[in-house]
Amino acid sequence: MPELPEVETIKNDLRGLVVGSRIERAEVREPALVEQPPQEEFVRRLGGARVTGARRRAKHLVVELDTGEALVFQLKIGGQLLLVPPVEEPEDSVMLVLSLDGGRRLLLRDQTGFSRARLLGEKELAERLSGLGPEPFSEEFTVRYLKERLGSRRAQIKPLLLDQSLISGIGNIYADEILYDARLSPRRRASSLSEEEWERLYAAIRSNLAAGIEHRGTTVRLYRDVLGRAGEHQNHLRVFERHGGPCPRCGAEVVRERVGGRPTHYCPRCQDGGGSAGDGVQLELE
Ligand SMILES: [Zn+2]
Repeated sequence: MPELPEVETIKNDLRGLVVGSRIERAEVREPALVEQPPQEEFVRRLGGARVTGARRRAKHLVVELDTGEALVFQLKIGGQLLLVPPVEEPEDSVMLVLSLDGGRRLLLRDQTGFSRARLLGEKELAERLSGLGPEPFSEEFTVRYLKERLGSRRAQIKPLLLDQSLISGIGNIYADEILYDARLSPRRRASSLSEEEWERLYAAIRSNLAAGIEHRGTTVRLYRDVLGRAGEHQNHLRVFERHGGPCPRCGAEVVRERVGGRPTHYCPRCQDGGGSAGDGVQLELE
């Protein structure tokens, strides 16, 4: 699923390739895509609108229009935005076609079918994004924020990293890599972290997301940029889907287990398990 670095890459691509274009026609090929407004209105209001900007908030891609509205995509699991040409028209799984002036088309393709789109006015957009935690590269996001917001929680650290109301943009791939760098077990209770561990975690969040952006995203399976190219950050992963192989730091075997319901990859030797919480009724154990 596209996380912060992948959506950031797509946003930057749209700025370079699509902003300034006019949408001549919108065609919804998969009705489940459109959450709001009703499909007919969605199509009608997009027709003729000019794309004036693109931005990212958490994992949301926000395409700004000269009508004052914003086309907001959640590229869930397998969502791709592809510019045809130069990309060859995909043979299947196209959910939305935006015909642009100049003969190009911007296609939303998702082989998993989970991507969603909304066309929102200014107020609706603000409301939609209001529950999201700070952006990891914003001034608001500090070691102190991390410690204060998460440090009182007894929950396991990994599910907290994925909670978009606490921090924006981290998903399953980067969470595992961040915890590897911070040398923290994904099962550590947040309330058990030391000052030094909060600092390590904070640094790891920023450095892993920055590296992901630098490498134009992680393509484990379906992620592509707007020109259909895979990212490169998958070549830099240390633990995510590296289970069965050696930990690059200590040589022990990387394992894959469910933590907070999500497949989780970590090194049981060098990601400190001290103060770990089980998956179940850990609250009563203290
Ligand atoms: Zn290790």
